[in-house]
Amino acid sequence: MNTISQLNTSDTPPIISVSGLSKYFGDHQVLHDVSARFNRGEVVVVIGPSGSGKSTFLRCCNGLEIAEAGSINICGEWLLKDGAALAEEALNELRKHVGMVFQSFNLFPHLSVLGNVAIGPRKILGMPRDESEKLARELLAKVGLAHKAEAMPASLSGGQKQRVAIARALAMKPEVMLFDEPTSALDPELVGEVLQVMQQLAAEGMTMIVVTHEMSFAREVADVLVVMEDGRIVESGPARTIFEAPVHGRTRLLLQKVA
Ligand code: ADP
Ligand code: MG
Repeated sequence: MNTISQLNTSDTPPIISVSGLSKYFGDHQVLHDVSARFNRGEVVVVIGPSGSGKSTFLRCCNGLEIAEAGSINICGEWLLKDGAALAEEALNELRKHVGMVFQSFNLFPHLSVLGNVAIGPRKILGMPRDESEKLARELLAKVGLAHKAEAMPASLSGGQKQRVAIARALAMKPEVMLFDEPTSALDPELVGEVLQVMQQLAAEGMTMIVVTHEMSFAREVADVLVVMEDGRIVESGPARTIFEAPVHGRTRLLLQKVA
């Protein structure tokens, strides 16, 4: 079984713990007995070749995919316990604590930037309109887009769209943020502005799990590195240790390729 060494050896429970996770699409097993523990305030970077199960792993962590076997505990709640998933209503409740940012932004095209950020708190958390808009403006300022509040998503650059998507996820006041290749769809010159926002979040202590190929970001920001291959975690532990002395052949290959 794959285990991840904890940086924090204190008694605080992990914010996410995954054990024995196996996921199939039809006959195809895409996650094999994956186990990991992530602590509050840690930035975990997940790397691995295309098709190694990184997205599926993240999607299982917020219940977008339900695995057939294993357990996932998030913030003390069992999303999945011995292969049995939470009912839809409880799952939606738990999802409020887990923000997710996708490669493809997924903004609501018919809502303004402000509307995109304010809608979650208003519709899902029941926040009054003025309060949700105040929060949205604060978060847009945080991602450097206060001046775009009234703009429509279609008028934004990819980097701006992704920063709106981050603000929208933050508006739900998540305990943990999951990022699935958040800069992979961006023109190279727009990658930096998104990574900078993520770096700032990390510095503020947000717990983050980030699938990315951006190794300079990983080197600077990751506390923990997880390396996946063929649906398995083949290496994991303190990022600094792995960058200095990768043990698994796949890790060496991945680090070489981008060095
Ligand atoms: P990664 O994010 O590392 O590229 P994925 O988690 O997207 O990997 O995919 C892992 C494997 O699962 C791949 O073989 C992929 O083709 C398969 N897969 C992913 N999503 C689905 C799906 N919805 N239906 C069938 N197969 C899928
Ligand atoms: Mg993926």
